[in-house]
Amino acid sequence: MLINMKEMLKTADENQFAVGAFNATESSLFRSVVEEAEASGSPAIIQVAPGEFDFATREFYTYVRERLAGSKIPFVLHLDHGKTVGQCLKAIQAGFTSVMIDGSELSFEDNIKLTKEVAELAHTLNVSVEGEIGTIGVMDNSDEGGVKNVTYTDPGDVVRFVSETGVDCLAIAIGTAHGIYPKGFKPELQLQLLKKIKEVSTVPLVLHGGSNNPDDEIREACKIGIRKVNISSDFKYAFFKKVNQVIEETGGFIPAKVFTPGILEAQKVIREKMELFGSLGKADCYR
Ligand SMILES: [Zn+2]
Repeated sequence: MLINMKEMLKTADENQFAVGAFNATESSLFRSVVEEAEASGSPAIIQVAPGEFDFATREFYTYVRERLAGSKIPFVLHLDHGKTVGQCLKAIQAGFTSVMIDGSELSFEDNIKLTKEVAELAHTLNVSVEGEIGTIGVMDNSDEGGVKNVTYTDPGDVVRFVSETGVDCLAIAIGTAHGIYPKGFKPELQLQLLKKIKEVSTVPLVLHGGSNNPDDEIREACKIGIRKVNISSDFKYAFFKKVNQVIEETGGFIPAKVFTPGILEAQKVIREKMELFGSLGKADCYR
């Protein structure tokens, strides 16, 4: 079942859980997420950043769409961190049901203008839109972008941004970063700030850079009101670590023998995340 983000997060909000959004650009990572979601009865979001979209090529998403649409589990196909109207259009033309327009590095006024333009366009095609205010940190090993110094989301900006742009969900900056944190670095979520934002926001909230943060902080953030959590690095890291190990040990080159152990390792991480978000078994809420 392929639905848009608004529908996905409305049900998540009513039932107080969050949905994991996993970046997948080729079939083994994609299958890791989809098959785990089906085994666990958990809704899930498949997402792709513009650079990843170009790598995977448009045709890959024809396969992705067909696979998701034919599943009993609800899925969203989402563009992560679109930066321009053109990138969002490209994803919409490829059949995505949701796009993010990230104007968080622009001035607040320009961010509103750009986000509103994408939302008006996308909504005519029943495609949902995620906006962002505040900026998310970036570690050197991430290719999703971000800035070195994080600006936290100002709760005072939320009401105006949401009402003027018409976004369906909102990514906020409360102290996460993209990529895997270096050893010794202690990420800390500003949960009090999240509570203040939740009080004023009329749309579901999104947490980016969720890989690697302490489990109890993420669990708490979902209890307070985060409804979508982006997970990219964690499960891909588990996949490639295992694949590397198998290749080193066996010198193998048969895809089924090399990739299957990687998929199983990635699925352990995906399932742990789904448990953390409270989404296991929640596919039933969409019937
Ligand atoms: Zn992000």
